Amino acid sequence: MADVIIVGAGPAGIFAALELVRQKPGLDIVIIEKGKDIYERSRSANEMLIGWGGAGAYSDGKLTISSEVGGQLAGVISEERLMGLLDTVDGMYREYAAPDQVFSVEGDDAAWISAKARLAGMIYLPTRVRHIGTENCYTVLKNMRDDLDGKITIKCKAEAKAILHDGQRVAGVVLDDGATIDAGYVIVAPGRAGSAWMANEAKRLGLDAWPNPVDLGVRVELPAVIFEKLTTLAYETKFIYYSKTFDDKVRTFCMNPYGEVVQESVDDLLTVNGHSWKNKHTENTNFAILVSANFTQPFDDPIGYGKSVASMANMLGKGVIIQRLGDLLKGRRTTDSRLQRCSTRPTLKTAIPGDLSYCIPYRILTDIVEMLECLDHIAPGVHSDHTLLYGIEVKFYSHRIQLDSELCTQMSGLYVIGDGAGITRGLMQASCSGILAAQSIISQCS
Ligand SMILES: Cc1cc2nc3c(=O)[nH]c(=O)nc-3n(C[C@H](O)[C@H](O)[C@H](O)COP(=O)(O)OP(=O)(O)OC[C@H]3O[C@@H](n4cnc5c(N)ncnc54)[C@H](O)[C@@H]3O)c2cc1C
Repeated sequence: MADVIIVGAGPAGIFAALELVRQKPGLDIVIIEKGKDIYERSRSANEMLIGWGGAGAYSDGKLTISSEVGGQLAGVISEERLMGLLDTVDGMYREYAAPDQVFSVEGDDAAWISAKARLAGMIYLPTRVRHIGTENCYTVLKNMRDDLDGKITIKCKAEAKAILHDGQRVAGVVLDDGATIDAGYVIVAPGRAGSAWMANEAKRLGLDAWPNPVDLGVRVELPAVIFEKLTTLAYETKFIYYSKTFDDKVRTFCMNPYGEVVQESVDDLLTVNGHSWKNKHTENTNFAILVSANFTQPFDDPIGYGKSVASMANMLGKGVIIQRLGDLLKGRRTTDSRLQRCSTRPTLKTAIPGDLSYCIPYRILTDIVEMLECLDHIAPGVHSDHTLLYGIEVKFYSHRIQLDSELCTQMSGLYVIGDGAGITRGLMQASCSGILAAQSIISQCS
C-alpha cells in the first residue's frame, strides 16, 4: 500500500518524486524501475535507455531551456507556466551539480546566424542550452538518487506489468513477480523503452490515444572545425528546412560538438544516436538530420513503419551502416578501403560500410541531401565527400495519450508523463512533466 506509485525512474519519474518529497514529505511514495540502479548500470546498447536515470543517464545532457523544443507541453499549459517550470527544473539540475555555464545566442550573433540561415533557405531556432555532458549526467542523476534514498521506496529491477483500477479510479500496479501495490495515485513515466507497453495498457484501460509521427534520418559526422564558430557561440544550433522536392519539414537535431556517435538498441533494432563528454573531446561534431513521417488514412502505424525501415538497414549492414556522403552522391557503396581513405575518422567503430540508399526511402534521402547542401552555405565543408552518414537514426515517439492540463488521464488518479506519454522529447520538458503531475497530486492531498 502506498500513496503514490511512480513507474519509471527516468527524468520525468525522478522529478515527480523530488517534487512530491519536497512539497509533501509525509507521503508514502514507491518508484518502480525495470532496469538496474544507477550504481550498477553500464553503457551497453541494451542498458542505454533502461535503469535509474532512464535515457537521461547516458544522454548528452543538453538542457534546452525553451518552450519550443523537446516536447509539446506548450500545447497543454500556458507559456508563462511552462517558462516558470523550465526555470524551476533548470535550478534543480544545478542543485544536483549541473554546470553553471549557459550557451545563449543573443543580439548581433543571433541576427547573424538568422540571416545566414535565411540566405541558405533555412530557419534558425535560437535556444538557451546548459550542457551537462555525459560523464556528469551520471553524477547529477546519482546525486538525485542519493537525495531520495530513505525518503521514498526505490524498487529497481521491478517491472510494472499492469495498472489496476476500481471503476474509473486508479487503484495500483501489478509487478512482474505477481506482487500488487495498491495506491490512490499512479504516475506512469515509462519513456521510449516502455512506450509499447504503455500503448497496450492505454488500449486495455480504454484511454484515448493516437500515434505521433515517427522521425527518420541519419546521424551526420564531420570535423568539429566545420561547425566550430556556431558551436562555440550556441553549443547546439537548430535549423529547420522545408525541402524543395517534397515540401517536407527537415530539421537538425541533437548536435554534439567534439562528441561521438553511439549505437542504441530499441526493441532488438540497432539504431544510432550521439552525445559528447564535458571533459573528453573527439575531433568530430555529430548531429542528426530528421524528417517526420506523418501518415494519413488508412495507415496509422508510424512506429511500425520506422521499425521496418530500421530493420532493413540492420538486415543489410548487420547493424548500423556508415557511408561517405561522396559515395552516396555517386551511387556507390562505401567499402572498408573507401572508408580507410576518408579524411573524417568515424567515432563509432562498429558501424559497417555500406549503402544507405538501399534502405532509406527516396523521399527521406532526398530531403536529407537537400538539407546538407543548405547547411554547407552556413558551415562550408558540410557537403563534402568526406562527411559521414550513419543510418538509421529513428525517433519513435510514444502514442500521445489523452491528458488534461495536469497530465491526468481520463482515469482519475492516473497520470502519464514524459516521453512515454508522447508529450515530451527531451530532458527539460520530461522533467517539467514530472513536476506538473506531482503538483496536481499535492493539491488534492492538502
Ligand atoms: C544517447 C541519448 C542522448 C540524448 N541527449 C539528450 C540531450 O542532450 N538533451 C535532451 O533534452 N534529451 C536528450 N535525450 C533524450 C532524453 O534522454 C529523454 O527525452 C528523457 O530521458 C525522457 O525522460 P523520461 O523520464 O520520459 O523517459 P526515460 O528517460 O526513457 O525513462 C523511462 C524509464 O522508465 C522505465 N520503464 C519503462 N517501462 C517500465 C515498466 N513497465 N516498469 C518499470 N519501469 C519501466 C525505463 O526502464 C526507463 O528507465 C537523449 C537520449 C539519448 C538516448
